[in-house]
Amino acid sequence: MAFTLEERQRLGIHGLFPPRFKTQEEQLELCKISFNRYTEDLNKYIYLVGLQDRNERLFFRMLSENIEELMPIVYTPTVGLACQAFGLIYRRPRGLFITINDRGHVYDVLRNWPESDVRAIVVTDGERILGLGDLGAYGMGIPVGKLALYTALAGIKPHQCLPIVIDNGTNTQQLLEDPLYVGLRQKRTTGPEYDEFIDEFMDAVVRRYGQNTLIQFEDFGNHNAFRYLDSYRNKYCTFNDDIQGTASVAVAGLLTSRRVTGKKLSDNTFLFLGAGEAAIGIADLTVKAMMAEGTSLDEARGKIWMQDIHGLLVNNRPEGELEGHKVYYAKDHPVMKSLAEVVKKIKPSIMIGASAAAGAFTPEILQYVAANHERPVIFALSNPTSKAECTAQQAYDNTKGKCIFASGSPFPPVNYEGRTYTPGQGNNAYIFPGVALGVICTGMHHISDDIFLIAAQLLSEQVSEEDLALGKLYPPLSSIKECSLKIAVKVAEHAYQNGLASTYPEPRDKEAFLKSAMYNHDYDTYALPRTYPWPGNVN
Ligand code: NAP
Ligand code: MN
Repeated sequence: MAFTLEERQRLGIHGLFPPRFKTQEEQLELCKISFNRYTEDLNKYIYLVGLQDRNERLFFRMLSENIEELMPIVYTPTVGLACQAFGLIYRRPRGLFITINDRGHVYDVLRNWPESDVRAIVVTDGERILGLGDLGAYGMGIPVGKLALYTALAGIKPHQCLPIVIDNGTNTQQLLEDPLYVGLRQKRTTGPEYDEFIDEFMDAVVRRYGQNTLIQFEDFGNHNAFRYLDSYRNKYCTFNDDIQGTASVAVAGLLTSRRVTGKKLSDNTFLFLGAGEAAIGIADLTVKAMMAEGTSLDEARGKIWMQDIHGLLVNNRPEGELEGHKVYYAKDHPVMKSLAEVVKKIKPSIMIGASAAAGAFTPEILQYVAANHERPVIFALSNPTSKAECTAQQAYDNTKGKCIFASGSPFPPVNYEGRTYTPGQGNNAYIFPGVALGVICTGMHHISDDIFLIAAQLLSEQVSEEDLALGKLYPPLSSIKECSLKIAVKVAEHAYQNGLASTYPEPRDKEAFLKSAMYNHDYDTYALPRTYPWPGNVN
């Protein structure tokens, strides 16, 4: 209904609409009314998917102007529900499904994607969706949601974004038996066969869309995530958000916490629950941040203790092989299994949960930490909300309001003894859209960990004293678009200073350059093409 009278007549669509002309603002009002009529979050999600299908610009305007309210719907936690119910709520195609049966033909499948100017891909194989486990092809909700944030938060154009599910089957028996399941009904292929398939995928992407195509890995199983990151990071333009994006946002929170505790990072004893993609990623970047403070590598690693499903990471433990980066954090220490006992033994001042072990930070543990430290830092990062190691209320209640708290999924403000605390959400969305914008626009070939430390520092600098006083470790979500642009500018400056950019000539004003590349959700007008005269009398 935003077509003008002239457009309706010229385009031959006059009479097909009611005779009212609406502005985008008026349409937006209607969308909000419609959205608010739904009481269940999953229905709100379905409404927004429908809006994205029928009016992309309106969808992105609504999303980018109502981030605080809508992000928990298009992204964690509701996107988790949407993935679990994907077979039920699937309406129209969005994103590309490439199956293990398409081995040898990945390029052909990519050629079926109707857009030719793709700059950013988010790809999952659905093996570890949020903290929900192996959802197979139902995982498509994740790349779709993440890329919606690329556009809404960093202005990356929707047609330049491609969500992909690699369907390698699923090991979740319930899905294999689910009559609504939309993916391959087979168990996952592992070993060299799968690795070769992913190699083929990476090659095919570059062949189809060029070497600068950003490929974000998302929600792959732990056993693949680290290996693929290591083998591709210097060959392709790629990063793993679960490892590196999470690390960046968590380290931003840690850097901010220094302003409350008055301590350097290296003055702390860290205890991680979980030693997976999130935990190892955070630990590795924390070490980098401590080294930037002047601490040595060994000393920095020595400050970090970790516990996985088998207990504390210690050398020579009888069960639970120390794979990959876990060895860096293993200590010469007797075997310990109970988190409560570990806490009593090492007295951490910073506890970070990334285990998907709901409720693992018990009242007893929280009380103990608070008894030993004036301002303990408690991060309960596991998503979705139902998987958090503790709730915000539990954290403040059991530390008498002293803790510095952040979570992965949003928690409402908490009241403790008459004071209101607004818990920070260590949301990866503070980081990845801005990083992606900077990387894409400068044409970087590879994305180093420096980028994620730079982004963390910048994000931390955005936190005002007023935010801190309310207990927030992050700037308000309402400022996330400005944060994204600032991160992109920093990334671009870094890229040119260090010879990592391939977009030349170097733009003098980086911010103006980035802004000029960004998406505009205003409607195009269907005016006649503009013409210009030649000088003099030319026939
Ligand atoms: P992951 O790679 O599978 O790692 C999970 C880790 O937790 C593994 O080390 C596992 O031990 C350990 N673990 C599982 N159950 C445990 C238990 N009961 N006690 C102690 N350790 C246990 O998964 P991930 O990617 O790191 O994600 C973990 C959680 O973090 C998820 O809920 C995810 O949603 C969340 N996350 C949050 C953010 C954010 O807040 N911004 C970002 C990313 C991820 P083993 O190594 O022995 O298997
Ligand atoms: Mn993820």
